[in-house]
Amino acid sequence: MKKLNIAVDGPSGAGKSSLARALAHEMGLIYVDTGALYRTIGLFMTENNIDTHDAAAVAARLGDIQLELTYQNGTQTVLLNGTDVGEKIRTPQISMAASAVSAIPAVREFLLGIQKDMVKKGGVVMDGRDIGTVIMPDADAKLFLVASPAARAKRRYLELCAKGIECSFEQILEETNQRDQADRERNIAPAIPAEDALFIDNSDLGPAETVAEAMNLIAQKCAEKRS
Ligand code: C5P
Repeated sequence: MKKLNIAVDGPSGAGKSSLARALAHEMGLIYVDTGALYRTIGLFMTENNIDTHDAAAVAARLGDIQLELTYQNGTQTVLLNGTDVGEKIRTPQISMAASAVSAIPAVREFLLGIQKDMVKKGGVVMDGRDIGTVIMPDADAKLFLVASPAARAKRRYLELCAKGIECSFEQILEETNQRDQADRERNIAPAIPAEDALFIDNSDLGPAETVAEAMNLIAQKCAEKRS
């Protein structure tokens, strides 16, 4: 049986990674977190004192980066020049750096091959911003997950607190809004739904209800495609 490819897009903090991880587990697919790739480029540039808004300076350093993705027990590891980036890519500072570098065409081009290779292998649940529109236009189902800004910022805030990363709710809300606006309005691969996206608003849904709703929508879509 052909392995499915599922796209999960939406703004930050909508719960894409939890949903994608759970779907991958339920359906025996590999969960690919593409945001981690942009975060790793953001980390490299920050550690090397490159202004992440300076497209030419960022592009000039891409040749010094070697990225590798590995998977074990459903967990993705990103190796930056051979070293696991771990939780270093999860800080608010690196979130903003990732958003800045993601608007640079050379960066998106640089990350295209590694993502397309994963799609070619097949059997993936991939989450990001342009998965249904650019990376997997032929996905079997394209989910677009949304939630209110306050609900999203609250989740991000609790997630960071649980990891011991110091931040305030107001700061996270402000940064979430800034990042989403920049992601939506950029010229290249803007974070917008594909024409055939399946929407889920999970502002008032728990994780299990979100997964159940997603499984229903995927089953309906696959049945439609078969008939
Ligand atoms: O999903 P996550 O919050 O980890 O993504 C970090 C940033 O990377 C996003 O704010 C977005 O700017 C960028 N991104 C992107 N395209 C993707 C995945 C992430 O532009 N497919």
